[in-house]
Amino acid sequence: MKNKIILITGASRGIGREIAFTLAKEGHIIVANYNQSEKQAKTLKQEALDQKLQLDIFQADVSKRDEVKKMIDDTIKKYQKIDVLINNAGISSFNLFTDITDNDWNTVINNNLYSAFCVTQEVLPDMIHKKSGCIINISSVWGLVGSSCETLYAISKAGLDAMTKSLAKELGPSNIRVNSIAPGFINTDMNKNLSQETIHSIEQEIPLGKIGSPSSIAKCVNWLVEDDFTTGQIISVNGGWVIT
Ligand code: NAP
Repeated sequence: MKNKIILITGASRGIGREIAFTLAKEGHIIVANYNQSEKQAKTLKQEALDQKLQLDIFQADVSKRDEVKKMIDDTIKKYQKIDVLINNAGISSFNLFTDITDNDWNTVINNNLYSAFCVTQEVLPDMIHKKSGCIINISSVWGLVGSSCETLYAISKAGLDAMTKSLAKELGPSNIRVNSIAPGFINTDMNKNLSQETIHSIEQEIPLGKIGSPSSIAKCVNWLVEDDFTTGQIISVNGGWVIT
């Protein structure tokens, strides 16, 4: 079914932006959230307009309850519902475990985990009332297998996957599906500080012999949006880099 109302957090750049475009091209109505990248968000809206796609942009820091509440209230007021929520917003973090400060902890957990908790809580009452919904959390392979010097990031993503599994059980009777997509290495700003040499050596570790693109994740999201019997799953999209 097309014409679904789909909210994507962190859609100004990278994976979220590609998900927004892919789903808009499928005929859905997109609310693309952004925080700091206003210029990129406005370009996304203009490009969508040029292609006659239905896409709104909405500024909100999803780690802040009052901003999230306003975004959800305004969206439901305008469209009467949210059919699909994609919790994509996130930040990276590299540090030795012994160097992680309380401030690092709060920043990463708030942006990667509390954000999804908060947006999901605000969206759910309407989904439960309508007995219909689909929630997709963008986690990471590091949440599944851990990563040296990325413990905090891995903790935040493992927490997201735990939320996926628990909510799938709690919300199945309300006909709401909840799944995670755990990307491997995807070519976005998040990895822009890595050298070509490092990227090349990662490519050599990946059985499919290449790093992923945002479209690899967007295709999987589109499949989950259309599906009707998958819930509680952590779907790894990683070229075979991590096989659990
Ligand atoms: P990216 O290019 O750095 O984009 C991150 C996006 O998240 C931006 O649109 C940013 O918005 C948004 N964002 C961050 N904090 C936010 C907040 N508090 N409120 C609203 N928006 C916020 O990263 P990406 O690679 O596309 O990553 C997208 C998701 O995939 C993340 O959850 C990431 O952890 C996950 N992931 C990525 C990879 C990878 O290799 N790239 C691998 C595994 C998982 P503004 O710029 O507007 O602030």
